[in-house]
Amino acid sequence: MSVTQITSSKEAIAIEDKYGAHNYHPLPVVLNRGEGVFVWDVEGKKYYDFLSAYSAVNQGHCHPKIVNAMHEQAQKLTLTSRAFHNDMLGKYEKYAAEFFNFDKILPMNTGAEAVETALKLCRRWAYQVKGIAENEAEIVVCENNFHGRTTTIISFSNDPVARENFGPYTNGFIKIEYNNIEALKQTLESNKNIAGFLVEPIQGEAGVYVPSDNYLKEAKALCVEHNVLFIADEVQTGIARTGRLLATCGDCSCVDKNCSGTPDVKADILILGKAISGGVYPVSAVLANDPIMKVITPGSHGSTFGGNPIAAAVAMAALEVVKDENLAEKANDLGNLFRAELNKFIETSSICNLVRGKGLLNAIVINDDEDSDTAWNICLRLRDNGLLAKPTHGNIIRFAPPLVMTEAQLRDCVSIIINTLKEFEK
Ligand SMILES: *Cc1c(COP(=O)(O)O)cnc(C)c1O
Repeated sequence: MSVTQITSSKEAIAIEDKYGAHNYHPLPVVLNRGEGVFVWDVEGKKYYDFLSAYSAVNQGHCHPKIVNAMHEQAQKLTLTSRAFHNDMLGKYEKYAAEFFNFDKILPMNTGAEAVETALKLCRRWAYQVKGIAENEAEIVVCENNFHGRTTTIISFSNDPVARENFGPYTNGFIKIEYNNIEALKQTLESNKNIAGFLVEPIQGEAGVYVPSDNYLKEAKALCVEHNVLFIADEVQTGIARTGRLLATCGDCSCVDKNCSGTPDVKADILILGKAISGGVYPVSAVLANDPIMKVITPGSHGSTFGGNPIAAAVAMAALEVVKDENLAEKANDLGNLFRAELNKFIETSSICNLVRGKGLLNAIVINDDEDSDTAWNICLRLRDNGLLAKPTHGNIIRFAPPLVMTEAQLRDCVSIIINTLKEFEK
């Protein structure tokens, strides 16, 4: 047995197809290098990355500050487990708790794990603090949600592809329509056993659905009224992606570089992942204040790698970059420009009639049947034209470049996108 040398994209795709489980359907492009907003394939062709690994690479590919932090820590100490203390964890916990204005953080690795952690935290709080009878707690979630891939999380998904033949499913969840405040109100009023409301501030995977302006604020107020925890899954929307440090920041002045995450809608439990590491390492986190976090006691929850010294060093550097480089403000300004330019094109387009999003989390809706392959074909042409993006559900293409993009680069990308779309005009 020897390690195969990959010399062409074709070869790399064939070897994956043969030896890897087919749990993804990637765009046929094979990357081997990234820097800032760019990635290169094994043939040396350069592309703008307009997905940013589902918003994990907000700080740009291989950001030197984050990579250096990882490199330095990797040469000193990589993993102790939580059986022993290490000198990085507390430092990181203080930094992150203060950064997002919470009493405490619980460090995990992946987004799905952080969601699971939040659900456990919420259930324990329901029994020990709110006083719900044992095993009776329910958590309200939204239709078309995406919160990850564990058995419990897919139990409350309504995506048949994610769920089918993975049962039996976990109980204790009530699904309501997203962006429907009346549905939340009725559910909370009619059921005394509700412990939490888990929501994405913008539904990313579903196709970048932005709720109406007051939805989150009103939902939070209802949660307060009914003593229900407001749980924000900001794994994709957080860390400056939507033009604020957090999407739950609403329209407060968080775009300013001294933003310390004083949100408009303060989550009781905040879930972060993806870009909290700048895409360098799997890092996720759950943040909450003491009255909630205190229900977690030794042995009740954990992870061998959660909060390891490399993760701590990487996440601190990644958050510093967000602040030092004003990424929230950049995402806000570039996002406005992006939508304005696409809206001008849409006025006269027949292939695309909607762009929506916030900051640099945007999507266009392709004017064709939901199950047609037009969006996929457009993404193949975008690839040929030097820009990488991927369809989400239905005929929707998500555009989420790294936030370190310059205005000139964004304008260049807008013309690639528009010129490509023009090739598909009927
Ligand atoms: C990506 C994502 C997750 C899951 O994160 P993983 O790291 O893939 O487990 C959870 N919630 C949202 C909103 C996401 O976008």
